[in-house]
Amino acid sequence: MILIDGKKEAEELRKKLKDEVSALKLKYKKVPGLTVILIGEMTPSQIYVRNKEKSANEIGLKSEVIKYPESVEEKIVLDKIKELNNDDTVSGILVQLPLPKHIDKQKVIETISPNKDVDGLHPINVGNLSSGYQGSIPCTPLGCYLLIKKIESNLTGKKAVMIGRSNLNGKAMAQLLLQEDCTVTITHSKTKNLKEECLVADIIVAAVGIKELVRGDWVKKDAIVIDVGINKTEKGIVGDVAFNEVSKVAKALTPVPGGVGPMTIACLLKNTIECFKRFQN
Ligand code: NAD
Repeated sequence: MILIDGKKEAEELRKKLKDEVSALKLKYKKVPGLTVILIGEMTPSQIYVRNKEKSANEIGLKSEVIKYPESVEEKIVLDKIKELNNDDTVSGILVQLPLPKHIDKQKVIETISPNKDVDGLHPINVGNLSSGYQGSIPCTPLGCYLLIKKIESNLTGKKAVMIGRSNLNGKAMAQLLLQEDCTVTITHSKTKNLKEECLVADIIVAAVGIKELVRGDWVKKDAIVIDVGINKTEKGIVGDVAFNEVSKVAKALTPVPGGVGPMTIACLLKNTIECFKRFQN
């Protein structure tokens, strides 16, 4: 079984991106800038944002975090996003999710300029992805895609099963694999016979949020299994895939932690650089 080392792959990607930032700096006399907006005091969000800022700085991006208290008015956030949309030193804007209940997520996403939408969640970028046009691709599915392509460069005709249909994960992942000529099935909480769906899959991407949902006897021999899930347990973080069981049958599997997570952050940096390049052109 191939243990897919997301940490190592992310490190390699960050090295390449660092070189690219240096080259862009020489060419344009400026560097891409990433601005993250963090609302509230939720610990996981604070940790994610700190990691994003650290990684951005390490590869030479200009990085800024704007923090608001939980009680901030929606208008203040929307006005700040509009200001950042018009700021040429800002290439990418990310508003860390989830948001407090009184702030409309859709309004926030739609206020970010599609050209600076490094999370790939703006409806224009969602449309671009499903049409096969250029645009930002959500970071986690992009990271999963790069990991899958490292294991298997030709995915034509493979059966791929997404577990989970969120905009952030399942739907975008399905589009990426469709573009690779996979036959894609998107499953979700109302899917009947999920085990049977999984058993025919050459590729399984689990993005659910249920600890060890995917069992060893759900997985075909030689399948590639990507575990996006992050579930807190007393023993630490575990994924949506029963690692010990599935590692005995799968051809390749991502661990949790150390699989998809590091690639998500590296792909955020990649998206910021892509936004910068598209703006220069
Ligand atoms: P979400 O809650 O938006 O979506 C979960 C999806 O799972 C839904 O589409 C739902 O229909 C489906 N689902 C629920 N129960 C199911 C069941 N019994 N069988 C099949 N499908 C079921 O979640 P999300 O934002 O897509 O995140 C999913 C998981 O991925 C979470 O654990 C989250 O923490 C994790 N995540 C990880 C990263 C990373 O970088 N590793 C990034 C984003 C999210």
